[in-house]
This record gives sequence, C-alpha cells and structure tokens, in this order.
Amino acid sequence: MSGNNQSKIPEGIVFLSKKIKELYNHQCQVCGTVLEIQDLRYAEGAHIKPLDKPHNGEDILENILCLCLIIMFFLIEEPFQLQIPMI
Ligand SMILES: [Zn+2]
Repeated sequence: MSGNNQSKIPEGIVFLSKKIKELYNHQCQVCGTVLEIQDLRYAEGAHIKPLDKPHNGEDILENILCLCLIIMFFLIEEPFQLQIPMI
C-alpha cells in the first residue's frame, strides 16, 4: 500500500475554477466578501450542480460559482439552510 489514495482533480476543473475566480476578481458571488491573505485574494470555485452521480452537473463555467470560505463552509455544513440574497 502506497497510502496515496487521493484522487487527482482533472486539469479542466482547475482551469475553470481559476477562470471564474479571475472573472469575479476573487469576490464572493453570494455575499460579496473578498478575502485577502498577505495581499493575495483568496476564493474557491464551486460547482452549483455537482459533477458526480446522481447530479451529473456539467463541467462548464456557467455551473461554477466564485465563493468565499465562509459561504463554502455553510454550503458544506448546511446546504439547505443558506438564505443570503445574491448580490
Ligand atoms: Zn461569501
């Protein structure tokens, strides 16, 4: 056993995630927050409709949001409790 069972993220997904963050200049599309860490902006690219089954979302720019870590946390912990108006 090598102990390395991490799945690799396909290059296309990394590219689109970078693209959406550039497009929104790392500003969260839900709450408008810009996280800056030592002068670097930080955001996450997240699929609206997950790619895996049973959702079978598309890996396209229109299916990705630029989000801050706070919103990412709420989406992971309480996906149906998030009620923040879109900006
Ligand atoms: Zn946010």
